[in-house]
Amino acid sequence: MQELIDRIFADARETMPLPYQPLVFSDAIAALDHLSVQDRIDDSDLSLEDRDLVNTLLSTSCSAPCFEVGLTALMREYALAGWNFGLMLDALGAFALRTADLVTALVADGNPEVRVANPVAAVEQDDARVRVTTRNGEQFTGLAAVVAVPLNALSGMEFAPALETQKQSAMKQGQASRGVKLWAHIRGESEPIFSIAPDDQPITALVSGRILDDGSQLVFAFGPDAHRLPPGDEQAVRRAMTDLLPPPVQIEAVAAHDWCADEFSRGTWSAFRPGQLSSSLAALQAPHGRMFFAGSDVADGWNGFLDGAIESGLTAARSVSQMLAT
Ligand SMILES: Cc1cc2nc3c(=O)[nH]c(=O)nc-3n(C[C@H](O)[C@H](O)[C@H](O)COP(=O)(O)OP(=O)(O)OC[C@H]3O[C@@H](n4cnc5c(N)ncnc54)[C@H](O)[C@@H]3O)c2cc1C
Repeated sequence: MQELIDRIFADARETMPLPYQPLVFSDAIAALDHLSVQDRIDDSDLSLEDRDLVNTLLSTSCSAPCFEVGLTALMREYALAGWNFGLMLDALGAFALRTADLVTALVADGNPEVRVANPVAAVEQDDARVRVTTRNGEQFTGLAAVVAVPLNALSGMEFAPALETQKQSAMKQGQASRGVKLWAHIRGESEPIFSIAPDDQPITALVSGRILDDGSQLVFAFGPDAHRLPPGDEQAVRRAMTDLLPPPVQIEAVAAHDWCADEFSRGTWSAFRPGQLSSSLAALQAPHGRMFFAGSDVADGWNGFLDGAIESGLTAARSVSQMLAT
């Protein structure tokens, strides 16, 4: 797999020599940015079987069919991990942090007042203040606001004055991820499982997560399209998982969240479409008066990952501090 992916991204180092500054070498990016991941696979000299293998790995990485995702989106992950697929897999899959622990640490660090289940309906500004109005009519005013809502959910809020045209068109287009992550508790196989399939299938990867003391397992699976395999359709999920499990495994239980139907995310983890890195990233990052934009979707580095969310939060905080100091 490493050899195949290294061949697919053979030009990554010259295209993205500074992956945390993805727009610096804009000509090199522009020359490739119109291509999808699938275009690159189709243009390669790989065998049909190897193309399927690459398609499977990359579709799983971007949570969407490969033809909908920009080549540069996955090339950026590969470049960020040191232009090496083994390190990319480690960066994507080796972790010791629960999201809840990160949230707890963030709250302990800044000690902010936290309101949950209180969606924002509108963000307005004049020359001196920003006013945020929630759906239940509460209002908050401040000298600045950081909007850290996923790109695909930004259209659920009103902005006044209206956002710049380029930001609006990127919001309308949205990023490409529309896949599923599923979990199952299975019994009947105590060896680790690694099953894969190309992105015309409901599930592209099914992998052991943890082998429990009683020999049963927790496995997780990814698919490229939440419409094709709705996470809430338990029978469809069980059927799709069974196809990738070695017989005679029994599925005890399945679980999933439908991130694509969730109005506060409308996708899984961010994967830019062809052309979006060149056309939209800078526009999405740009402040709008006293409004600053943050979140993994607008990160310079790990777009689609917790690391990118933290990076963009630091950037937004610095920008707000600078504005308040002037
Ligand atoms: C299934 C799945 C698996 C993942 N696995 C990994 C992984 O292994 N490693 C990794 O690094 N990343 C992973 N990610 C990606 C990671 O979760 C995101 O990159 C990260 O959460 C982005 O952080 P964020 O703060 O930018 O956005 P989010 O975490 O999406 O936070 C945005 C917040 O805005 C809120 N919001 C939206 N609209 C409104 C509104 N109108 N008013 C108020 N609030 C609103 C949302 O409810 C949400 O709480 C995964 C994502 C998914 C879906």
